[in-house]
Amino acid sequence: MFDAVSEIKSRLDIIDVISSYIKLQKAGANFRAPCPFHQEKDPSFIVSPAKQIWHCFGSCDTGGDMFKFVMQIEGIEFREALHILSARAGVELKKQNPKIYNERIRLQQINEWAAKFFEKSLEVSPKGKNAFKYLKNRGLTQESIKKFRLGYALDNWHALENFLNNKNYKNTETQKAGLIVTKDNGQAFDRFRNRIMFPICDISGRVVAFTGRVMPGSDDKMGKYVNSPETPLYNKSSIIYGLDKAKIAMRKQDKCIITEGNLDVIMAHQAKTENTIACSGTALTEMQINIIKRYTENILLNFDMDQAGINATRKSIDLALEHELNIKIISLPKGQKDAADCIKHNPKDWLKAVKNAMPIMNFYFASTFQNMPKKLKIEHKKESARILLPIIGKIKNPIEKAHWLGELAIRLEVDEKVLAEAINNVSDQRKNTPWRAPKETSQTNNQLSQNNKTAKRLAGYLLKYPKYSKILKDHNIKNSKALDKILKQNNKEQLIFKIEQENIQNPKAEIIKMILFFKKQKIEKKLKKMSLLIKKAQKNKDKKQAEKLIKKASNLSQELAGCY
Ligand SMILES: [Zn+2]
Repeated sequence: MFDAVSEIKSRLDIIDVISSYIKLQKAGANFRAPCPFHQEKDPSFIVSPAKQIWHCFGSCDTGGDMFKFVMQIEGIEFREALHILSARAGVELKKQNPKIYNERIRLQQINEWAAKFFEKSLEVSPKGKNAFKYLKNRGLTQESIKKFRLGYALDNWHALENFLNNKNYKNTETQKAGLIVTKDNGQAFDRFRNRIMFPICDISGRVVAFTGRVMPGSDDKMGKYVNSPETPLYNKSSIIYGLDKAKIAMRKQDKCIITEGNLDVIMAHQAKTENTIACSGTALTEMQINIIKRYTENILLNFDMDQAGINATRKSIDLALEHELNIKIISLPKGQKDAADCIKHNPKDWLKAVKNAMPIMNFYFASTFQNMPKKLKIEHKKESARILLPIIGKIKNPIEKAHWLGELAIRLEVDEKVLAEAINNVSDQRKNTPWRAPKETSQTNNQLSQNNKTAKRLAGYLLKYPKYSKILKDHNIKNSKALDKILKQNNKEQLIFKIEQENIQNPKAEIIKMILFFKKQKIEKKLKKMSLLIKKAQKNKDKKQAEKLIKKASNLSQELAGCY
């Protein structure tokens, strides 16, 4: 059978593949770099050209082959990574239907030509120069205009149509790409005319659609914004504006900023907050959240504080909490309507607002009281309690809950006890919108990941030095299910590669240390259980049983002491 994966691996070098995303530095036989998947100063991301694998020895503690790298950095599934790498290697994927494949390629080419055409028109046409001036007035630098490939659609019904026809694309194709509209009588014309053009890119940075903004002072009876329709390349609910340029920063900083508009994104990148994207609807969609989650679980929302913006924010919060994302709200200084505005005014204000992003509860308080007078009347008190009590009621952490109850009591000038009672009786008006407090990382989770790390390391050692496997037997470990599982789930090469980086002089001692680590844990667990049983026996006045247990416990304690 034709094996595309090994064919691709034989044609591509992992160093070239990874170098196209990050800068690698030679270090002995390997290459290293600051890890693109977590924030760090000292590079702990290692690539081995000999083994054609990579590994992060920092907090990610993960690695793999070139496919895994592309999947992780692009945030895509294996199939998509296969497409990217096969195109790069020039390996044809046999199963692709050539007709569909060719059509997609041609649609991509059409969009790319259109983007070039719009860029050029912004530069050279007289009206394009006006559009350029407008963008500069909004605060955009020339670099930003270039980076986001902004353009201008000429004030002409057939400019793009003719241009694309001359490039040998038929109107049936340009229509399918969403750029040309054909009337019933067969007459065709350009969809975008006299508009400032924002190309919309897919996750790999290929242009798949456009948003056209009306020229300032022009007739906007077609709407302030005109968008490409859905096409085979463009699925509105799954494309996120700016993601192709933000994804690496999102992963690295482990957070992302979500704004409302395209200009907000461009200005935010200009202000060096390059982890900014826009959801080009009002609220976040389920699909967008699933895509964002591949990069980070920490979201900073910045929507307008008008009623529509507040509603969108609430909807987004509910959906994001359902997906267990952590959310904060960026609120801009008074009088600035959006991120783009704020950054044009003073980028430092924006950076400060991002830094001081507030927890969701602050947002709920602020948005509830923002349209009420300072001195609350009785109906305001009732109204705000109606909104806020159900939300406070859903907070799981009791201290946090008490805190916000206290805040509300002060604001309403009502006794806290009254509110505490009310919270139990309050009929939940927002029953259908679940509200959960942000996830807490529990002790057990840390313990589990520590165990997992040690087990992986132990497996690596035993693979590298199989002769020490008998140490397991010396410690009465006959078969370890945990180890078997690790070996089944992990690439053996990878496990060995990892421990080879450690430069340990005495592997036997290391193996014993790790075995003792697990042994200690096991004994401690037993001892805990034992002490409960002893208490129970003493409570039942079962002296005999208690003595028996105490003796057992003392044996265990001795065994535990032997582990140190
Ligand atoms: Zn890492």
